[in-house]
Amino acid sequence: MRLLLFGPPASGKGTHGDRLSESLRIPEISTGNILRAQVSLRTPLGLQAGRLMERGELVPDQLMVDIIEERLRRPDCHRGFLLDGFPRTVAQAIALDRLLQAMGVRFDRILYLAVPEEELVRRISARLTCSVCGRSYAFDHTQPRPDHCEDDGGLLLVRDDDRPETARRRILVYIENTFPVLDHYRAQGLVSEIDGRGPIEVVAKRILAVLGHDLPAPDLKATERFTPGAGETPAGAGRQ
Ligand SMILES: [Zn+2]
Repeated sequence: MRLLLFGPPASGKGTHGDRLSESLRIPEISTGNILRAQVSLRTPLGLQAGRLMERGELVPDQLMVDIIEERLRRPDCHRGFLLDGFPRTVAQAIALDRLLQAMGVRFDRILYLAVPEEELVRRISARLTCSVCGRSYAFDHTQPRPDHCEDDGGLLLVRDDDRPETARRRILVYIENTFPVLDHYRAQGLVSEIDGRGPIEVVAKRILAVLGHDLPAPDLKATERFTPGAGETPAGAGRQ
C-alpha cells in the first residue's frame, strides 16, 4: 500500500505514521531523514544537496524527487511505503506524480489528520521540553505540572515555538501551504480526511478503517458484515 500522510503540528502525525508503518509493514519514508542520510553518506545526490544547503539555498524540487526515487526503488518499498514531509507545494506534487507514473505505481490513499486549531494549540502549549536532553513531556492541566526531567533532572521549559501565539502561526502557515497540495490530490479522488481528535487508539482505528476499504480481502468481509446473519460468522465477529 502506497500512502502519503499529512497533518499539522501536534496532529499526531508522527505517532500514527510509526503505527501505520508497523501495522502495514511498509517503510516510513520521511523526506527530511532521507535527505540527511544522503548528505551524510556523501552520495552524488547528497553532495549536490549538501553544497546547496551549506549556502543556505533550498534543495530544488527535481533533486528532492531524485533522492526520493532512489529511496522508493529499494526492495523494501516493493510492498508499499508511507511518505511523509513531501510534497509541500503543488509543483512538487506534480513532479512526484511524474515519478510515480514513470515507476508504474500510484498512491492508494492520501491521509490528512484533521484536528481543530484550538485543540492543536492546546496540545502544543501543554508540551514541556527538557532544557538538557530535549525530551518532551505532555502535561495536562488537571495534574501538577512536572518541573524536572526524569532522565537527567534538567529543568522543563515551554519552548518559544510552543507558546500559543507562535503555535497558532505555525499551524496557519502549515494549513496555507498544505491545502493547495491536498486540493491537487482531492481532484484525483485520493484524499481521506481522518478525525484526529480523541485517544490514539481510536484515531488509529479510524485510519485503518479508511484503508480497509482499499484492501481487496477485507473489502469482501466488510460486505459480508452488512449481509443479514453474516455477523454470526467468525470473520464478521473478528472484525467488530
Ligand atoms: Zn532531560
